[in-house]
Amino acid sequence: MAGSSRRRGLWSLFEYDYKAGTIRLKAEYCPRCRSIMALHREPVARWYCGKCHYTEYVRARRRAST
Ligand SMILES: [Zn+2]
Repeated sequence: MAGSSRRRGLWSLFEYDYKAGTIRLKAEYCPRCRSIMALHREPVARWYCGKCHYTEYVRARRRAST
């Protein structure tokens, strides 16, 4: 029964998009040092690399307002 908590770790890397009906990989790799980056949502959504401190801001969704 050991290792049942490991499943959560895998799934936390994925995000299910209900609108598009697709599963996306939440993790991204750092373009500088190739290590995995973490997604931070506060105060602004951004990818952050803990190794080289590279930060990439997530593009905000544009609302289709006419
Ligand atoms: Zn990096």
